[in-house]
Amino acid sequence: MSTESTLRADIVEIGRRMYARGYTASNDGNISVRLGADRLLMTPKSVCKGFMTPDMMCITDLEGRKLQGDRDPSSEMLMHLEVYRQRPDVQAVVHAHPPTATGFAVAGIPLDRAVLAEVLTTLGSIPIAEYATPSTKELPQAVGKYIKAHDGMLLANHGALTVGGDLYGAYYKMETIEHFAKISLVARLLGRENLLSREEVTRLQDLRGAYGIKAPAPICEPGTDADFGSRPDQSCQVVQAPPGAGARLVPDTVHSMARADGDTEIRLTYRELSALIEDAVRNLR
Ligand SMILES: [Zn+2]
Repeated sequence: MSTESTLRADIVEIGRRMYARGYTASNDGNISVRLGADRLLMTPKSVCKGFMTPDMMCITDLEGRKLQGDRDPSSEMLMHLEVYRQRPDVQAVVHAHPPTATGFAVAGIPLDRAVLAEVLTTLGSIPIAEYATPSTKELPQAVGKYIKAHDGMLLANHGALTVGGDLYGAYYKMETIEHFAKISLVARLLGRENLLSREEVTRLQDLRGAYGIKAPAPICEPGTDADFGSRPDQSCQVVQAPPGAGARLVPDTVHSMARADGDTEIRLTYRELSALIEDAVRNLR
């Protein structure tokens, strides 16, 4: 468990990185982390996240009452409280307005296509929470519909929200969303977006377990029972992936071995590797 002073320093550092990368402008964005079982450490309202100091942070309880700090807590505190209420596993919440991802949020285009293996294994799909006026009670309601099954989402006409098991975990998911949004934009500008097949998505989902990736919900197909379209309590991550043989990034038989450094080594035979390369070349044509 990190000490309070470490968490204060981590929030300052993440705020600095978000501002440096252009994820926030002026006083946008907010960051919070659990401080023990019943308290939160949170960025204050009306400060630029690029120029914070550790003493600026507020401590609140889980109902949002300020317990400590010279400044008032973030204007988006209600959204953070809703996340912590619904997700006991979440330790940290990051909100920002990264321009490419926010562009998708403004265009009403969710980042839910099966395109990149690392996005599918970590975040799964990235839906759009319906528009709500910032800082009002409607915003936590909009976020609340999706937060049970997702670690990251776009906020319509507003920005993006990510959560994690610690501060850096939540922040890196924000980086992944913006990076994925940029790649998706370039692919669509180039006029071609080859999707991974449903079978490949299933294989990647199985790898979550093998790599120890904690995902809040399984991946499902649009229109299935668990899809938000059919049930108001969305309980899975809807990913658009065509059925049939698409690009196969992972062979059927993966010979994996845990390594001393904590990583996993995958062994392929020469024939499996050749088949993978042939598949990849075929898909390039
Ligand atoms: Zn915002």
